[in-house]
Amino acid sequence: MKQTPDQSVRRILVIDDNTDIHEDFRKTLSRKSFGVDLEDDEAFLFGSQPVVETQSREFDIDTASQGHLGLAMVEAALREGRPYQLAFVDMRMPPGWDGVETISRLWQADPSLQVVICTAYSDYSWDQIVEKLGITDRLLILKKPFDDAEVCQLASAMTGKWLVTQQAQIKIDDMEVLVEKRTAELRDVALRDTLTSLPNRIFFNDLLSRSIALHRRDPQRMFAVFFLDIDRFKIVNDSLGHHIGDRLLISIAERLCKAHRKEDVITSMTECTAARVGGDEFLILIEGIKHYHDAMTVAERLLGVLAEPFKVDDHTIKITASIGITTSAQSYATLDEMIRDADTAMYRAKAAGKNRFVIFDTRMHEDALLRLAMENDLRVAIENAELRLVYQPIVHLGSGCVYGFEALVRWQHPTKGVVSPLDFIPLAEEIGIIVPIGEWVLREACLELARWRRLPDLGNLFISVNLSRKQLGHPHLVESIRDIIQQAGLPPSAIKLEITESAIMEDMDHAVTILGQIRDLGIDLHIDDFGTGYSSLSCLHNFPVAGMKIDRSFINNVVDNPDYAAVVNAIVTLAHNLRLGLIAEGIETAEQMSMLKTMGCDLAQGYFFQRPVSCDQALEYAQKHICKSHSRMIA
Ligand code: C2E
Ligand code: MG
Ligand code: MG
Repeated sequence: MKQTPDQSVRRILVIDDNTDIHEDFRKTLSRKSFGVDLEDDEAFLFGSQPVVETQSREFDIDTASQGHLGLAMVEAALREGRPYQLAFVDMRMPPGWDGVETISRLWQADPSLQVVICTAYSDYSWDQIVEKLGITDRLLILKKPFDDAEVCQLASAMTGKWLVTQQAQIKIDDMEVLVEKRTAELRDVALRDTLTSLPNRIFFNDLLSRSIALHRRDPQRMFAVFFLDIDRFKIVNDSLGHHIGDRLLISIAERLCKAHRKEDVITSMTECTAARVGGDEFLILIEGIKHYHDAMTVAERLLGVLAEPFKVDDHTIKITASIGITTSAQSYATLDEMIRDADTAMYRAKAAGKNRFVIFDTRMHEDALLRLAMENDLRVAIENAELRLVYQPIVHLGSGCVYGFEALVRWQHPTKGVVSPLDFIPLAEEIGIIVPIGEWVLREACLELARWRRLPDLGNLFISVNLSRKQLGHPHLVESIRDIIQQAGLPPSAIKLEITESAIMEDMDHAVTILGQIRDLGIDLHIDDFGTGYSSLSCLHNFPVAGMKIDRSFINNVVDNPDYAAVVNAIVTLAHNLRLGLIAEGIETAEQMSMLKTMGCDLAQGYFFQRPVSCDQALEYAQKHICKSHSRMIA
């Protein structure tokens, strides 16, 4: 910032070849000043405090006898930071420059210098002067012979004007600096993530589009984009609270930044910019790589850096991340395409088990398009009546009688044929339409069963329906189940619901509450795919369940592998001790069947008995395999 000029000293330079005139000026101006003052104007401009103190005002007068000498003094004064405010310049100064020449030189050196040109009648006309020096408010004319009062007024007014102008300029400069600073602050706020101070998406997009443009001009300038997502971050938020979650994100951001700055990166040319673009999502731009596999090295290092435990308050938190990578080798036209592909690759990394990176390839994009088409088709599958149920019998191992059926959903896709639930249930969960699909399945199964149970001897059949983990989280699940069963006119005991072990373990407290409410309706619950979800056997008795279904993977190996046989045996014993029902899933051979039977397993299901079939075929099977004694016994 400029310094406020000294207001007490007013420096005047007199340039005249006649040294007597120098003395005249000194005498005249050393008297007490009088006449015109600009103080009122100053007060108006800068508030009530006058800039110029009248008492301390005095003129500091220097003189020169030739134009070029005057110019040298003006230049020296400027260098010393004590510029002249006013110059009285004589019009005729032989043998040197005349007044007009002198003035134009002075102004080249110091454009803010105020000038009074002193002239006799016969010199240049005003028009001629204006023609030579241009129209300006820095120049006044003083006709010879001088009047003392006029000289004093001019000296006072012109030096005062110089001060006011200077002061105004300083204010303007200060203002400009301030505006620039504020603008920079605002720009920073608009372009940075408030939590971590990393660049935000707008900032990142800007950098990325620049990189894309540079690469187009010079394909040697390779770069890569990472889409990094923290694995299971929600668990941190849910279990430790958002406050800790936020602090963790800040630490993650710091590590991402630090990791970049490491000298040993790849080459000293490698530059990375990390941006936070969502809750736990980061975009990273890696520039200056020499080979595309350099990007992998960076990704590996980032994963390593994040794997070190974080300390937030008293908590030690371990996290992992999934990274999707795409590179400029794909010659992207737009940044959206590039980010989209990095995102797609990141999802691949998640699906492949998290804590890893995956590099995008074009097949992934085609898959993503297919998936999008599937999503759209699935959204209308119910209204287009493309869903149907198949039924697989659940039989009593001791007697071979059918006790019930498991309802399994199929999607008859208009062009792709039958789609397995393994392919579309996860999709339905992800896009949030599993709830209506689940309700449709339950209603359909209940109506079908109600129809069967009205037939002779089939009055005790039950139906088993699968519940998705996402349905467990739905607030109206229990009411909806109750309504559907009532509308079908079935007793709750006719329905069994299956929920996978992993779904229960995902949020055990919540699952136990909901499952308890379902059991209170009088509906039996079974743990599906038992043995795959790592639930601690000791907490089994806490679950409000009536039984479990041993996963197919155990049954598959039970005959050939004694370890599996031992585990299955233990599960059977456990179920008996806890008085839980047990169904063996996926029995395909007579050996498996007899082994399970010997171990004491009650019920079973599998291709050995019957594959899942249409409702008509299922009914046929039921009529053939129903045990009259069983139906009477239970009735
Ligand atoms: P799940 O509930 O464990 O169903 C058993 C699966 O094993 C069925 O596959 C069935 O066809 C198959 N299976 C039965 N016996 C054998 C056998 O002896 N050998 C072999 N290799 N497989 C056998 P499906 O119908 O493809 O269903 C797969 C999974 O999809 C089901 O596993 C279930 O988790 C889910 N699912 C099916 N229908 C629904 C539904 O309506 N709602 C929900 N949420 N999930 C469903
Ligand atoms: Mg099942
Ligand atoms: Mg199962």
